[in-house]
Amino acid sequence: MIAATPDALYTADYVLTQNASRDVICQGALAVAGDSILCIGHTDMLVALYPDVRRVDLGRAVIMPGLINAHTHISMSLLRGFSDDKALRDWLEKDIFPQEAKLTPELVELGALFSLAEMIRTGTTAFYDMYMFEDRVYHATDQLGLRAVLGESTTKFFPTLVAPNKDAYFDLVRRYGKEWADHPRIRQAVVPHAPYTTTSELLRECRDLADETGSLFGMHLAETPWETEQCIAEHGLRPVAYCAKLGLLRPDATFFHLVDVNEQDRRMLADGHCAGVHNAASNMKLASGVCPVSALRRAGVPMGLGTDGPASNNAQNMLREMYVASLLQKIHTLTPTAAPAQEILDLATLGGAAALHAPYIGSLEPGMKADFIALDLSFPNMQPVHHIVSQVVYAATGAEVCLSVVDGRELYRDGKFRTCDYSALLEEMQKALAWTRHS
Ligand SMILES: [Zn+2]
Repeated sequence: MIAATPDALYTADYVLTQNASRDVICQGALAVAGDSILCIGHTDMLVALYPDVRRVDLGRAVIMPGLINAHTHISMSLLRGFSDDKALRDWLEKDIFPQEAKLTPELVELGALFSLAEMIRTGTTAFYDMYMFEDRVYHATDQLGLRAVLGESTTKFFPTLVAPNKDAYFDLVRRYGKEWADHPRIRQAVVPHAPYTTTSELLRECRDLADETGSLFGMHLAETPWETEQCIAEHGLRPVAYCAKLGLLRPDATFFHLVDVNEQDRRMLADGHCAGVHNAASNMKLASGVCPVSALRRAGVPMGLGTDGPASNNAQNMLREMYVASLLQKIHTLTPTAAPAQEILDLATLGGAAALHAPYIGSLEPGMKADFIALDLSFPNMQPVHHIVSQVVYAATGAEVCLSVVDGRELYRDGKFRTCDYSALLEEMQKALAWTRHS
């Protein structure tokens, strides 16, 4: 139920709504009531309507929907810069997996807190995460106030760090599901790692577990041509067809990367009403290939945008990701009109909402959740403003973010984190550095 009177009125030079007609309101205002948006309009009109409501005037700024990071592993901030410039399999098997084998729940939580701070600081208000010791990510996310879909990931290589066998893993997922069932901002997903690190039986059982626990389902899929070759050799099918055979292509499923997908794969994903996520920078850095993101959208697959983990990106900054994603499609197709700014902004907002299966975020409209950010347009790189969407996608760096709000609660404003002691966090990270030393 939305209250009739707002708690606060946020005003700025621009309000970028991302509504169905992509309205941009000059001298606009956003009225927030509780955790939702009450109304949007011209500042003069809303100030006249609510003269006594607390006003936060952001002046030369743009208010816009919070960005949605639709695929990441936030705790991997611990491994940012630890291993770079390698191919995916070498990177994973020689550097990342051995280092992750030494993780502790405390380290996972510290890594998560760091990425959450980075996301708040650069305008991300919601994300889809999969990792190990994910209960620590639940706690960190609850504490810092973001919105998320979270999943304890697994492979077939039992004993894993968190579970001695498959049944113990399933019990863990059931336990998290119960513990966090009624959380207003966090939803659970069952997230096996990828086809090449699991078995058909494990994937079928993970799918059943998602149904049993009322969770979403997510997985890395078709990330590299190598994965396709391996899947054909082992199962006689391309990765998407293999998932279709296992009954994994369902409306609550989100598949990450989708680099090596042909026309038939795209049609199968669309027929299954699945969502996908494009990870431009990670795919470029690991030289995995280029996701045909526009072709997937044309086929009818809702696509979000994600950074992937900080070890393969190396940022959790969706403003930077949008810029990279647009340029990647242009150079890959040698078409300057490919992936225009508005399409890319759609990926990071409305597409992200589809990938998180959260239709109540992604645009600023009455009744939607009050998840929004503001960018300060007085930065030299943000002037002059010919087209505000162009400015956000091509010119912004993340440093311009001056406000991040989730569920009507301010998480960051004017240089200050409202939900975390960042100085203390910084100290903790210095102590944790010893963990990554090779000795
Ligand atoms: Zn990933």
